[in-house]
Amino acid sequence: MAKYRVDIDKDTCIGCGVCASICPENWKMDDDGKANFISKESDVDCNKDAAENCPTTSIKVEEVG
Ligand code: SF4
Repeated sequence: MAKYRVDIDKDTCIGCGVCASICPENWKMDDDGKANFISKESDVDCNKDAAENCPTTSIKVEEVG
């Protein structure tokens, strides 16, 4: 099964909360108002949805092998 890496650019994240609402198992909003990735049970489709819907394209999902 393919492995994926999920990255977030906190510099461009505007804290809109879309990722946390699309993919609450993997994203939560931090005290600094930015999104934080929680890597416990990573659902790649959910994270791809979050990446596609992030208004600032701050989320990257890449296959790593
Ligand atoms: Fe930040 Fe993008 Fe998540 Fe919005 S959807 S909180 S801009 S990472």
